[in-house]
Amino acid sequence: MEHSPASPYTHVVTNVSRELADYNAYLQDAALQEAVAREGAAWAHGDLAAFGSLTGSADYLALGALANRFPPELETHDRFGNRVDLVTFHPAYHALMKTAVEHGLHSSPWTDPGPGAHVARAARSYLHTQVEAGHGCPITMTFAAVPSLRTTPGLAQRWEPKITARVYDPRNVPAAGKQGLTIGMAMTEKQGGSDVRANSTRAHPVGAAGPGEAYELVGHKYFVSAPMCDAFLVLAQAPGGLTCFLLPRWRPDGTKNPMQVLRLKRKMGNVSNASSETELRGALAWMVGEEGRGVRTIIEMVAMTRFDCMVGSAAGQRAAVVQALFHCSIRSAFGRPLNRQPLMTNVLADLVLESEGALALTMRVARALDRRADSHEDALVRLLTAVGKYWICKRTPNHAYEAMECIGGSGVMEDGPFPRLFRESPVNAIWEGSGNIQCLDVLRAMQKTPEVVTAFFGEVDKARGGNRALDELVDSLRSDLDDLADVEYRARGLTDRMALAIEAALLLQHAPAYVAEAFCASRVAVAGGHRNYGTLPRGVDCAAIIERATPVA
Ligand SMILES: Cc1cc2nc3c(=O)[nH]c(=O)nc-3n(C[C@H](O)[C@H](O)[C@H](O)COP(=O)(O)OP(=O)(O)OC[C@H]3O[C@@H](n4cnc5c(N)ncnc54)[C@H](O)[C@@H]3O)c2cc1C
Repeated sequence: MEHSPASPYTHVVTNVSRELADYNAYLQDAALQEAVAREGAAWAHGDLAAFGSLTGSADYLALGALANRFPPELETHDRFGNRVDLVTFHPAYHALMKTAVEHGLHSSPWTDPGPGAHVARAARSYLHTQVEAGHGCPITMTFAAVPSLRTTPGLAQRWEPKITARVYDPRNVPAAGKQGLTIGMAMTEKQGGSDVRANSTRAHPVGAAGPGEAYELVGHKYFVSAPMCDAFLVLAQAPGGLTCFLLPRWRPDGTKNPMQVLRLKRKMGNVSNASSETELRGALAWMVGEEGRGVRTIIEMVAMTRFDCMVGSAAGQRAAVVQALFHCSIRSAFGRPLNRQPLMTNVLADLVLESEGALALTMRVARALDRRADSHEDALVRLLTAVGKYWICKRTPNHAYEAMECIGGSGVMEDGPFPRLFRESPVNAIWEGSGNIQCLDVLRAMQKTPEVVTAFFGEVDKARGGNRALDELVDSLRSDLDDLADVEYRARGLTDRMALAIEAALLLQHAPAYVAEAFCASRVAVAGGHRNYGTLPRGVDCAAIIERATPVA
């Protein structure tokens, strides 16, 4: 095009990236496909390929942006003055919820258990979270509520069929009038979140006391996400101590149950998901599990939500790195595509390694969830959920930031995906038990059920002899885990090393050698651990690592 002084054209737009859209997010993710097949869900390949086509499509990706651009809004009262506690969401949020429910992200391992059930669900969740993370909160809580509810068969019989049904019904009506229900969770109070023993909400029996019986709850809950759920698992002080309850949003007689929503939190991330502050003013709830065993009962739910935090943060890492890889395959600087500039290859490959390690550990735990009848697998679930929740979630913010930097200045702009990915990135690390709480849980698991230690070493020893640095790390862990002096003080260091050991062992067994060797060289063999991204040592086949992970759209 000619540019004369009188021409209206100022410049030609060249050398810029484009949207990563209309690609198959599953078929273009080699590591995910391998993990699905390896961990027992090869049967789900066709279904996942179709799902990956949906989640990679431009129209569908747009829903994720819309659901966050137009956040939920609370109306406490209607225009006539009636209390309504109504949260409204953008239609995009409902569309994401509908897809998630119709694909069983909230229930498939319960309705269709069997080999690979958790693995297939985790893979679908991983794909869906890359589109949008906030809606995953109520989906996860609905999924996770089932094991806790099953502690009280009468309640489970009444509620589970509709909780697990593949029907999304967001109407603000009593549960009896719906075919599909969602479940939330309310533990945290102002004076204590990690330490729920400090809960001050009180529960009084309405008539007979005991599991399945009706109580009224008076108190508050300082964090209640997804307050439009149909019911909530709640902790409160019954006469016999801290106890779990199922609290419906509507009473069976069709009146509103007084869990009043005071306001919505103004969150830095996780914006599409409403999180609220509430007061319970004599709210009806049925006892779940035994009186005084509230933590024991709700921990069944918490364990599942912690696993989903691993899935969610691993997905966040993939969502970030895939953008960086795609952009750097298109954009050139100083005469070469960015993904062929030596220093950028170091950064990109390093980001991929982090994401591959996170995925490998997550899918290994998914397989263990499918095989809990085996005591070795059950022990792995107990230990590695805490290890993985801590490690993967905590590694995600810096990963998101570094992937953003690969885009350059446009990475910072609100019209791209990175501000959302970055603001989302710390959330999983903080809720469902913050970092220190996970590390203390690792210690608790090892002290209360020493067989988890045997299971851990059994698992990492499968890679014995594959890498000298890993063997040395495992040997040092063996002696350090026996040393109980100052063990709480040292819990993060121990958990970091356990996470690296299991991720490295999994990659050495299952990933291409160029991935596994680079992971060990950068994270296991380095005194003091991994430094900034882009510090891979000489000899790493960055091109192969990058090519394996880069999507084509
Ligand atoms: C977006 C969002 C949504 C949420 N939704 C819900 C919800 O739906 N339902 C719900 O019940 N809660 C919800 N929460 C609350 C969340 O689970 C709590 O914030 C979390 O458990 C931490 O509790 P806290 O905020 O009271 O912090 P604290 O318990 O005060 O902890 C503060 C810090 O101290 C550390 N710490 C605590 N004890 C120890 C110790 N013994 N040793 C060393 N360090 C320690 C913690 O790791 C943490 O880093 C949500 C939180 C967020 C951010």
